[in-house]
Formats: sequence, C-alpha cells, structure tokens
Amino acid sequence: MQAAGFYHEAADGTLQCDLCRHYCRIRAGRTGMCRVRRNVDGRLYSLSFGHAIAQAGDPVEKKPLYHFMPGTKTWSFGTPGCNFTCGNCQNWQISQCIPDEARLPVTSPEKIVENALQAGCASIACTYTEPTIFAEYALETMKLAKAAGLRTIWVSNGYMSPNCLDAVSPWLDATNIDLKSMDDAFYRRTCGARVEPVLDNLRHIFRGGIHLEITTLVIPGYSDAPEMLERLAGFIAKDLGPEVPWHVIPFYPEISWKMSATPAAGVSALEMARAIGKSAGLSYIYSGAGSNDTFCTHCGHKLVQRHRTLGNAAAIRFDSGGRCPSCNAHSPIKD
Ligand code: SF4
Ligand code: SF4
Repeated sequence: MQAAGFYHEAADGTLQCDLCRHYCRIRAGRTGMCRVRRNVDGRLYSLSFGHAIAQAGDPVEKKPLYHFMPGTKTWSFGTPGCNFTCGNCQNWQISQCIPDEARLPVTSPEKIVENALQAGCASIACTYTEPTIFAEYALETMKLAKAAGLRTIWVSNGYMSPNCLDAVSPWLDATNIDLKSMDDAFYRRTCGARVEPVLDNLRHIFRGGIHLEITTLVIPGYSDAPEMLERLAGFIAKDLGPEVPWHVIPFYPEISWKMSATPAAGVSALEMARAIGKSAGLSYIYSGAGSNDTFCTHCGHKLVQRHRTLGNAAAIRFDSGGRCPSCNAHSPIKD
C-alpha cells in the first residue's frame, strides 16, 4: 500500500479524504466510497497506486479527443475503483470492483512511460475508470511522461476536489470530461454524485487553459430530454465557449452495469442533440449521426478527416501551423 496524500484528520478522529467532492470521512479499517483509499491505523493509504488493471495504446480519438493531436496514439491506463456508481457504466467490472491488492498487476510509473514510448505514443491518458481516485499514481506518471516529452490526458467524470485539480493542472495538457446531465436528480440517482461540482470544475479547467472536450451519453428516458440538452449545450456555449467540442454518444444497454432493460439510443436522438447544440451556438458537435470530420468555421474547408467508428478512429489532418490551409483562419486543432 502506498501512503496517500490529499487527506486530513477530522475533529471526530476519522480521516477526511480531500481528493474528490465526496470528502469521505473514513473510520479506521474502512475505505471511502471509491473503495481504494483505506484508513489504516490513522493514516490513509491508496490501494490503487501502481495497479494499472488495463493498459493499451489507443487512438487519441477514442478518448474521445478530436481537437488534440489528431491521428496520434495515447498510452491509456486505469486502475480499479471509481467515485461514481453509474448504472450505465460500461467498465463496471473494474470501476465497481473491490480490489484485492495481492492479486492486482503492478506497473510502476516508469514502466507506464516506457510502454508509451515503446508503442510510439505521443501522450499518456489516465482513463478507463476515474483518474481522480488514483491521483497520486497518475501524478507521478504524468511528471515522468512530461520529462520524456509526452503529453498528458485525463478522461474524467470531473468530480475532483479543488485541491486535486490544483495539483494536477500544471501537469495536464488535455482532458475530456463527462457532463452527463444538467439535472442534479440524474447525478444523484444514476451516479451517486451531484452536478454542481462538475460544472464548477469545468469552468475552472476551461479558465485554466487546459484543452477541454466534453462528452454526454444519451440514455433514453434519462438524459435525452430536449430541454435538458438545451440547458447543457447552453452551459457549454455560454460558461465555457462555443469552440469547446461536444461529443454526444449513444447508450448501449448490453454492456451496461445495471441498465440492460433501458433501450439503446437511436440515431434520431443523436440528430436531435446535434441540432440542439447548433442552436445553442456550438461550433463543433460530434456524434454517431452526421460527419465526424472537422471543418473550418470560416470557409468550410475540411481540417481533419476521421473514420466514423470511434474504436478504430484514424485522422488525417489538413490544417498546418494552427491555420486553415484555405483561408488562413485560426484552426481549433491543438498539438
Ligand atoms: S477519492 Fe472521493 S470517493 Fe474516494 S475516498 Fe476520497 S473522497 Fe471518498
Ligand atoms: S461511467 Fe465512468 S464515472 Fe461512472 S462509474 Fe463508470 S467509470 Fe465511474
């Protein structure tokens, strides 16, 4: 077990974990909600440090990040545990498990970076479950990755504490954050969390200049109401900016944790979300319906061409030097 950071002793003698907005009060011998931070004799330990349970060189488009280093691969890794309990989770076997440390594989931060370099990746990505709950492991790996010339990515539910965000931000180049709904009731019932901290962190990340893209999973009956999607797209456009890419992705019941009886999202729901995003003024909306290519907002010239399937995304770039090759306008694509 690795000694954890991000906690303090509370007045009642428990340890308060300060890593995410749950701020769990953890009694001796117990773990927090994420099941990977344990109070052992008055000290908090991380059960996830070094335990990358999944690792792969993925196209960066699969995170999804469409405006950050298109066409490159990112060495992706994640540990067991999550601070959310989403009924729709597709990685629930690792996000909702109770980790048995003795049986978990061990991969040092150095080895993660070595794997990334050997695989020809341009970045590392902390993903698959929730990077916040393995923040100490992520941070150590990110620092080594930056020293080796790699970029760093978080794919996150956006529920980190301000302490965590302040510690991670100097080392973080790009992030995709789930904005699952604007309804607090959805967050409470489906994820075991609240929406306001996510909105607060999104504003903070955007203002901090970290490359930001947002993903919304469209779940029929849960997160497909037009008025909710209008509020969500309006939040991105007004509180963040119209250039922030919005990924609208369909829910698949077959691989969900607890929602196998919920129908899959149809093309019409994705088309509706895309139309709502356009009405809200968003410049870049990506979904299974319509083109996943990026076009210059000034002259319409194609800047990036992508295959339609996210899993096998490959991108061809036509922009150069941050400019549209046709009209020389600013390109939203970042390196
Ligand atoms: S990371 Fe969040 S869920 Fe996990 S113990 Fe800390 S406060 Fe609780
Ligand atoms: S969907 Fe993401 S945030 Fe929700 S439980 Fe799964 S890994 Fe955690």
